[in-house]
Amino acid sequence: MRITKITTFVLKAPIGKERFLSSQAVFSERTSLLVRLETDTGLVGWGEGGQYGPAEPVASVIHDVLAPWVLGISPQTPAVTWERLYTATRDFGQKGTYVEAISGLDIAHWDLFGQTLGVPVHVLLGGAFRDRVTAYATGFYYRGDRPFDSPETLDALETEAKGYVDAGFRVLKAKIGLLSIQADTERLARIRAAVGPDVALLTDANHAYNRATALRMGRALEALDIGWFEEPVVPEDRAGYRELRAALSIPIAGGESEFTRFGFRDLFVERCVDIAQPDTCSAGGFTEMQRIIALAAAHNVSVVPHVWGSGIAVAAALQVLAVIPWQPFTFNPMPLQNEPMVEFDRNPNPLRDDLLQTPFVLEDGTLRIPDGPGLGVQVNEDVIARFLVERRESHID
Ligand code: MG
Repeated sequence: MRITKITTFVLKAPIGKERFLSSQAVFSERTSLLVRLETDTGLVGWGEGGQYGPAEPVASVIHDVLAPWVLGISPQTPAVTWERLYTATRDFGQKGTYVEAISGLDIAHWDLFGQTLGVPVHVLLGGAFRDRVTAYATGFYYRGDRPFDSPETLDALETEAKGYVDAGFRVLKAKIGLLSIQADTERLARIRAAVGPDVALLTDANHAYNRATALRMGRALEALDIGWFEEPVVPEDRAGYRELRAALSIPIAGGESEFTRFGFRDLFVERCVDIAQPDTCSAGGFTEMQRIIALAAAHNVSVVPHVWGSGIAVAAALQVLAVIPWQPFTFNPMPLQNEPMVEFDRNPNPLRDDLLQTPFVLEDGTLRIPDGPGLGVQVNEDVIARFLVERRESHID
C-alpha cells in the first residue's frame, strides 16, 4: 500500500460583525489548512497544518518542497517520514511554516496508519488513559463592535460567563493584555463575580507584556485566584519566563508558539513553564507530540495542548489527550493539578462546528475521545466546498 495523492485545502470562513480581538490580532475570519492523503487502495487520511498564520504558505511548503518524500511511501511509516521531512528542511525550517506543514502531513499520515489496522490513533500511541476529557472554554475576547470599557461590554462578559457555566463548563479562560492592567483586572473581576469561586478561571496574555508589566499583572492575577497565566512574555524571552515563574505563585503556561521536541526541551530544561501547551497542528503532529509529552514527564511539567483550528484540529488534540499520562499519578486525578484538559475555543468558527459529520458535543463539561479508526471522524466535504479558497494537488500514478 502506498500514499499516492496529497490534496490541500485553504479554507476561510468570514465571521462578519462577530469579529474579535486578542492582544495581538483582529480576527475577522477563521482560516484552516487541511491536508488530505490518499492511498492506492482508496483510504483517505486528514490532517491540519498551522493555527493563526496564513494557510497558503503551509500549502506551498507541502507541495513545492515536501511532497516528493511523502508520495509513494507506506501509510504505516509516520515517524520515519517525520524524520525524513524534518532533516530535509532542518537548515531553513526548524520552526514556523515548515514544521506546520510537517504537522499537517503527520496527522493525516497517522489517520491513514490507524485505518490500515482498524484502530484509533491513541491505540497506535500506546492506549488511552481516559475516554473523556474535561473541556475548558476559551472565550472572553475583546469585541470589535463596541468600546472596550463601556458598561455594556462588562455586562456582556457577565452574560458570556453565565452561558459557559450553564453549558456545563467548570474551567474558563479569558484574554488579557490588550488594555491596562487596571482595565483587564476589572474585566476579570466581573467574570469572577459572575461565576463564583468554584469555577476555575485562567488568563491568556498572548505575550503582551515585558517582564516588569507581567510581574505587576501576575500580582493582580494572584489576588483573583487565577488558575494559570498563559504567555506572559514573548516566547523568545526564556529568562523572562523563568524569572516570572520564580517570582509568582500562579502557574505559568506557554508553548503554543513553540515547535518540536527541540524547542520544548529548551523550555523544560530552562524551567520556563508549569504547563506546556504544544499545538498538535504546529508543534510537529502526533509523532512529535509523543516526544514532547515524554520530555515534559521527565521534567515534571503538565501538558495541556493548545487547540485553535477546525474540527480536524480538535479531533487530533483529543487523540493526543487520550495518551497524556497523569502528571504525576494519583488515585484521584484532577484538572489543573494532574489531569489534562482539552481547550475548546468558543469563538465563532464554522470550520470547527460544521466540518465534521458528527460534531463534538460538551457533556457534563467533557468531550468524548473518538474511538473509530485513525482520527475517528468523518469530514463533510460539502463544508469544504463552501469555504474553499485554494485547492492544490500533488500525485503519482
Ligand atoms: Mg494562548
